[in-house]
Amino acid sequence: MSFYEDGKSVLSHLDEYYNQSINIEKPVIRQLTISELHEKLSLATHLENGDLSGGRLDSFLKDYLDNTTRLHHPGYLAHQVGISHPTGALGSLIDGFTNNAMAIYEMGPAAAAIEFFMINYLLEKIGWKPMPNDIEKRLSFFHGGGVLTHGGSLANMTALLTARNHLDSTVRENGNPSDLVILAPESSHYSIAKAAGIIGIGENNVIRLETDIHGRVMVSKIDNAFQKAVNNGKRIVTLVANACSTGTGLYDPIDEIADFCREKDIWFHVDGAHGGNALFSNKYKTYLHGILKADSMIIDAHKMLRTPGICAALLVKNAAALDHTFEHKASYLFHEKKQPGFDFIGQVIECTKAGLGLKFYMTLAAIGEKGMEVYIDNTYDLTRQAFEYITAQPDFEVPVRPESNILCFRFKAPDDVQIMLRDHLIEEGSFYISSTELNAKRYLRIVIINPATKMNDIKKLISSIRSAATT
Ligand SMILES: *Cc1c(COP(=O)(O)O)cnc(C)c1O
Repeated sequence: MSFYEDGKSVLSHLDEYYNQSINIEKPVIRQLTISELHEKLSLATHLENGDLSGGRLDSFLKDYLDNTTRLHHPGYLAHQVGISHPTGALGSLIDGFTNNAMAIYEMGPAAAAIEFFMINYLLEKIGWKPMPNDIEKRLSFFHGGGVLTHGGSLANMTALLTARNHLDSTVRENGNPSDLVILAPESSHYSIAKAAGIIGIGENNVIRLETDIHGRVMVSKIDNAFQKAVNNGKRIVTLVANACSTGTGLYDPIDEIADFCREKDIWFHVDGAHGGNALFSNKYKTYLHGILKADSMIIDAHKMLRTPGICAALLVKNAAALDHTFEHKASYLFHEKKQPGFDFIGQVIECTKAGLGLKFYMTLAAIGEKGMEVYIDNTYDLTRQAFEYITAQPDFEVPVRPESNILCFRFKAPDDVQIMLRDHLIEEGSFYISSTELNAKRYLRIVIINPATKMNDIKKLISSIRSAATT
């Protein structure tokens, strides 16, 4: 095998793949059965022969790429997964090849230094104090911290652990007492309840904050939930808000919630997995107004920041809280080692950890900060235009004005018709959309995340839905 020749073949296939996708020459989605794919890709044969190189790699790649879901296709409107930037994808390749497990500095100084840089970059965007490059100073003054994790679910779980261990430093060793609760709206991502279950607080101890009919936290009602918890002898680990929510893409009122949490001395965690990207937009960052007053936040770079999966950032205002979450002595280890860098291993659930910062950095550095802002503004703007357009169609209804790039709507017909319409689109292959339930009604849902998607694609989507519904 020749790495160079095979590599050229991979790049040329991916280049063709990208062009076919963006030019709508292939369906956005195509699903054969597992058996058909095993057969087509000759999985068992290659394994037996150990021959995946040259011409065989070439035809394997063709079949593989023909059976992917094409995120670069302008009809890709389904899920909150980033339309990976080619330069970011090269970062994935480099990281995969070098395989630097950078959670300890000596296993990847460049990767660790980039992660450190990206964490500080995001901390400064929020307005929290960055970590000192001179790690000797790490213990000497108050500053923020964070880590890149393999996904937002893990970042949320790490945030909950940090908040819990900050509230009660004995829990890590002794296990959970029974008086811990988390406050979060029903509209919070399921990873919050899941994490509460995993870390032993318990899913039933996630107390639901009251929301308006669109799932936004009602600040005036927070005190009810708070008082009830306190009267029942509970301690509040953290209050979690959405920026933005997954279903409807609406932002909770961060500033007012932050004030409540400050007054009651509650750890305030902002789940910005999707909508944290507004930090990059002068036009839309008002949705995050007050974020400075939060205690922790997550952002998925692999959603709205065009970074190939997976890369999420957990950011905390007080680095010491994160230092103490997993290993009380983590802060001293690097002194003993006398190394020039920083070990992220004391901040994460993972042990071996990929150099996630490289693809994130390479994506951002290729697009540029300004380019990222334009991309985000365009997706948010286009979603507003789509809202106006669909609202004006007499046979469609749109339940909520969008704030981000997520839009729910339905053809005026019963719930099962919505599902049927989505199935029909997927079968046809020009559009791939998702669906969600709001107030016990089924809606179609789009996420305008592809920079190639234009208003004309939305108009075509609506007419495809209409014609599928009326034939
Ligand atoms: C996607 C999402 C998550 C989970 O992130 P993963 O990277 O998919 O694990 C958490 N919270 C919100 C609001 C999300 O949209």
